Amino acid sequence: MSTSATTEGTEEKKPSGTYECGCHCGYIKFAVTLSPPLPEYQVLQCNCSACTRFGYLLIYPDAANVKWHNDGRSRCAAYQFNTKAKDQLFCPKCGASLAIDFRDVLKPHRYGISARTIYGVNLDELKYKKLDGINKVQPAGDLSGHYWDEEKGEMK
Ligand SMILES: [Zn+2]
Repeated sequence: MSTSATTEGTEEKKPSGTYECGCHCGYIKFAVTLSPPLPEYQVLQCNCSACTRFGYLLIYPDAANVKWHNDGRSRCAAYQFNTKAKDQLFCPKCGASLAIDFRDVLKPHRYGISARTIYGVNLDELKYKKLDGINKVQPAGDLSGHYWDEEKGEMK
């Protein structure tokens, strides 16, 4: 993990860190700039059904602070559920769970990037903020209780 703290940006001289990230097989790579840098940044650990399934430990950079290498964003496979307003992003080759694209849900446009994608990350060194998403994030239907109806071929 890169721990070089820099003072990029012109708004204010806030410390930030830039981290190279990617899937397991290397098909998708990107760099994320975060302020404050790790390990000061509070990584979100949520217990909702999606965060649990996809293994998310989330950081939330503005889209402008996510640099996709080799047009990596368009290489991602996307899954949508419930309101289908967000994309859960995966590598279509190795299946690694990467990120959430909030599209128009959060403004300015932001990503939720799984800290697990950071090369060399030591998860034990990060600072976590826990979210009881399964009870506190609406709509609750976004989060759990669905299953695939084999007969109707749809989610129930
Ligand atoms: Zn991959």
